[in-house]
Amino acid sequence: MARVPPSHGSLRARLLAWYDRHRRDLPWRAPRGARANPYAVWLSEIMLQQTTVPHATPYFLAFIARWPTVGDLARADDAEVMAAWAGLGYYARARNLLACARAVTRDHGGAFPDDEAGLRTLPGVGEYTAAAIAAIAFERPANVVDGNVERVMARLFAVETPLPAGKRDLKRLAASLVTSERPGDWAQALMDLGSAVCRPTSPACEACPLAPDCQARASGAPQAYPRRAAKVARPHRHGVVYRIIRNGAVALVRRPPRGLMGGMLALPTSDWRPDPFTTAEAVAAAPIAAAWVDAGAIEHAFTHFSLTLRVFEAHANGGDDAWIWTPLDDARASVPSAFAKALK
Ligand code: SF4
Repeated sequence: MARVPPSHGSLRARLLAWYDRHRRDLPWRAPRGARANPYAVWLSEIMLQQTTVPHATPYFLAFIARWPTVGDLARADDAEVMAAWAGLGYYARARNLLACARAVTRDHGGAFPDDEAGLRTLPGVGEYTAAAIAAIAFERPANVVDGNVERVMARLFAVETPLPAGKRDLKRLAASLVTSERPGDWAQALMDLGSAVCRPTSPACEACPLAPDCQARASGAPQAYPRRAAKVARPHRHGVVYRIIRNGAVALVRRPPRGLMGGMLALPTSDWRPDPFTTAEAVAAAPIAAAWVDAGAIEHAFTHFSLTLRVFEAHANGGDDAWIWTPLDDARASVPSAFAKALK
């Protein structure tokens, strides 16, 4: 169990003082001492759920210029919002964005709820986003824990429980540092520290205001935190895939309905097994007798195993009735990526 250092007060004071000097100038942040705009905070948090600050910034500026208030966004045309969102990823988020803007306008008189429970009732606002908005926009002492904050906590307290099981401990430790003094700045200070100083692979401990308290730094290997569960070695398999060409088309087969890639179009293959195939074995396992040419090999990773596929090619006049002759370009788009690689 991690040890909680005794000096929370001085630790907090040092990080807040560091934030006052080094805070990032972000377009959704209020000027120092001013109240944050809940609409801007919410919009930035939704955008940042799936992308980085540099990528999100021009989108944020474009949205704010075009729809300056949550009411403007609520009245926007769906298609225009979807088009403005293009490039930000998952459209479900854009649909939730509109649904949320309309819920705020319709159910809350155009004002965002000012606490976590109220915020959680809004479409697309989960536990993290609600905490972030509550802290940053409404100065609620909410526990805002993203990946950056998890990393800082894991290092500060040298938490030995590996992720993902350690998340609960990290959250509890983060909560032990939250107070009602400047909760918005505290949340943003931890985020900024994690992003700029306590970086994943190269923490800049010499520039860190938490260094005197940091147990991972004292261990001499801060980058070894957060601990991660050892990856289970993925088994490796070998197989042969057959590219059979006739008049610019390639023979595809429909895979059995059950099992890996069930029911999908694919190239004919051998069995997949732990040992590599020799050329003689590859030719013997081929679906037809032909002048087979070794066309190299491809690597592919499935969730539960990795695969080396040797690729053999031959030209054929006839073939199996079950084969589906498909123009090469269409074939690449019709088969799962392991087979598409073998068609390149
Ligand atoms: S001292 Fe180093 S490891 Fe510890 S919180 Fe600061 S940057 Fe991270």
